[in-house]
Amino acid sequence: MEERYPRRGPGSYQDRPREFHKAVCADCGKECEVPFKPTEGRPVYCRDCLPKHRKPRF
Ligand SMILES: [Zn+2]
Repeated sequence: MEERYPRRGPGSYQDRPREFHKAVCADCGKECEVPFKPTEGRPVYCRDCLPKHRKPRF
């Protein structure tokens, strides 16, 4: 017999509240908050500038 229920392990990252990190937009210099930890050496963009720097998908 097969078990068809997906396993849900305890302590999944989903029950963690989203952490926002303060960062400075590399484009306009505005202070913004990003839902991920800014990586050193990598530019962070605010919501306004992010679309401008996103690589277009084909
Ligand atoms: Zn910006």
